[in-house]
Amino acid sequence: MIYLNGSFIPIEDARISVLDRGFIFGDGVYEVVPVYSRRLFRLTEHLHRLQDSLDGIRLRNPHSDIEWRGLLEQIIASNESDDQYLYLHITRGVAPRDHAFPGDAMPTVFIMSAPLLVSPKELLATGVSAITANDNRWLRCDIKATSLLPNVLLRQMAVDAGAVETLLLREGFLTEGSTSNIFVVKDKMLLAPPKSYLMLPGITYDVVLELAVAHDIPHEVREVSEYEIRTAQELLLTSSTKEIMPITRLDGKLVGSGKPGTIFTQLYQLYQNYKATVMRGNIVV
Ligand code: PMP
Repeated sequence: MIYLNGSFIPIEDARISVLDRGFIFGDGVYEVVPVYSRRLFRLTEHLHRLQDSLDGIRLRNPHSDIEWRGLLEQIIASNESDDQYLYLHITRGVAPRDHAFPGDAMPTVFIMSAPLLVSPKELLATGVSAITANDNRWLRCDIKATSLLPNVLLRQMAVDAGAVETLLLREGFLTEGSTSNIFVVKDKMLLAPPKSYLMLPGITYDVVLELAVAHDIPHEVREVSEYEIRTAQELLLTSSTKEIMPITRLDGKLVGSGKPGTIFTQLYQLYQNYKATVMRGNIVV
């Protein structure tokens, strides 16, 4: 079951106009919210980022946070898996084709759910491969925009190379991955690029930094150079659907020892513990 503009319907029955500005211009924003044991994970933070994205494209939020929660809970209840990821998508609605904003269009609101699959143990044990590429996206990567063509092309580069992610470099510095944030371990220090308009402010990125603070893992939020990535002991990727994963090969070369490192192992365990606490309902999220 999905939600589309006021109705809960089977996905097969969902229809939108070909004049929807999401279809014509990619004029919309989205969010992905993980659900564990039917509990929404970090909903407040996801809705806050959604508001920032909407503000970034000057589109009014069609729902209050309480309304969003109600809609999301109905979608969770009408889908099978206990662990799900919810995809929320808002466009500037249907209007005659013109780049300028329409005066009176109603935003299109779409929510769907898919099963949230944990990363296979083997992949966590070996780590994954990544490549690097020039970050050729626009200068508002902080907006979670549905117009993802550059990310699509950059991620396909990874797939074509037999890798799972493309690390993006802008003027010699790491921004993020094509679909994830990236952390670097260099000389026992966990490094994270600072939030700016050059990267998406990841919700998982925030969790990782909170865990680093809470558990005294030495860390710095600062620009990370290409040289530091290529000589790193560990590289980690984070996202709501992949959680934390070790990158053990970069452009065909081993990262550090070529095995998931100690900081990954520690953060992965802390993340699982944190999730378990949230799922037991001990933390209000
Ligand atoms: N950066 C990009 C470009 C992404 O698409 C994503 C999420 N898919 C992330 C970072 C990670 O964000 P989050 O942890 O909120 O999923």
